[in-house]
Amino acid sequence: MDQKLHMETLCIQAGYTPGNGEPRQIPIIQSTTYKYATSEDMGKLFDLEAEGYFYSRLANPTCDAVAAKICALEGGSAAMLTSSGQSANFLAIFNIAGCGDHVVASSAIYGGSYNLLAVTMKRMGVETTFLDPDCTEEELNAAFRPNTKAVFGETIANPALTVLDIEKFSRAAHAHGVPLIVDNTFATPIHCRPFQWGADIVTHSTTKYMDGHASAIGGAIVDSGKFDWTAYPEKFPGLCTPDESYHGVTYTERFGIGGAFINKCTAQLMRDFGCIQSPQSAFLLNLGLESLPLRMKQHCDNAMAIASYLKGHEKVKWVKYCGLEGDKYYALAKKYMPDGSCGVISFGLYGGRKAAESFMKHLKLGSIETHVADSRTCCLHPASSTHRQMTDVELDAAGVGADLIRLSCGLENAEDLIADIAQALERV
Ligand SMILES: *Cc1c(COP(=O)(O)O)cnc(C)c1O
Repeated sequence: MDQKLHMETLCIQAGYTPGNGEPRQIPIIQSTTYKYATSEDMGKLFDLEAEGYFYSRLANPTCDAVAAKICALEGGSAAMLTSSGQSANFLAIFNIAGCGDHVVASSAIYGGSYNLLAVTMKRMGVETTFLDPDCTEEELNAAFRPNTKAVFGETIANPALTVLDIEKFSRAAHAHGVPLIVDNTFATPIHCRPFQWGADIVTHSTTKYMDGHASAIGGAIVDSGKFDWTAYPEKFPGLCTPDESYHGVTYTERFGIGGAFINKCTAQLMRDFGCIQSPQSAFLLNLGLESLPLRMKQHCDNAMAIASYLKGHEKVKWVKYCGLEGDKYYALAKKYMPDGSCGVISFGLYGGRKAAESFMKHLKLGSIETHVADSRTCCLHPASSTHRQMTDVELDAAGVGADLIRLSCGLENAEDLIADIAQALERV
């Protein structure tokens, strides 16, 4: 689809164009398997010589149509859906980094991504160096090793709400011959397209704004198609040398620079891990994508109104929202997200941890949930939930103090939300 179309149009039209008499809405292909006339036809699929589907553990037409829409939104060359944001980040990193390799990551990332890298992937032999995203370019460059294979960060970090200086991170990554992977979950392509700023791979937890209605867990991986793996064949043998588990196919040769990453990830990792999104979930995700631009505007407007209100409240010690003038990340947000950032804000009360718990208990419209980026306003105290396995030192390094309340502003009326917050603050 024509990439010059506006986002609102792509959100509705990209990814699926029905032919004459075909369903207008994306069909849910609820089938594990696909029929062929001859073994020869099937064999060509297995050799990656023909395009097509043979088993929905690897790929499914409904998922591919929705992935193609997300690909168009990000301005990428290829994309795939995964069962969750966790599996998207895992596959994106593991596709190029294995045992004995090293990753450079921002320390201000989602708790699940931190665990994935610091604990589980470490057990698999992939070591990660975590860096304050506000580090100097010198500190960043010093973190690289000969075996570094990727750099990882989040456009807007969940829940620290730091804004990644994408250009700084991509400069360092490219100077060391490795790609920058950016988790763009919070900003969504409506507000930031990391490829424009030098990111090479984008990941999403589609569970958040893209779905937007708390109905389906999912993830996505998008390749910019710009990183030239063949310039560093010794670093990326999985992409640049024959894959014995696929009859000796060399992904960069067969699929080119723009197709190698996603095709390897599908043919090899999805085959072996099977963490694909269900076609039902992909259908729900697509419904969410259709209204994403409208919803992102309302989420941001509400967040701005609430952040401004909290900033002026006597019981509120601090407020973090990159859209708020005076915020530490205001300038970076203006640069990378000129039309708005996201609907998530964080703040702390003078009473610290205890006051946070009391405030949340008294909210009526906002509910306590391990979730964000939903049409319904919700809040969370990370120190006692998602981040409770972290020490105070790690919490501070991740930018998540013990008093931090994360508030995800939904699509309700801003005046109603502020009235609810006011009565809850009153009772703290
Ligand atoms: C939620 C989230 C994830 C994990 O996604 P799931 O869909 O819950 O697996 C990854 N990154 C970010 C930024 C998130 O907010």
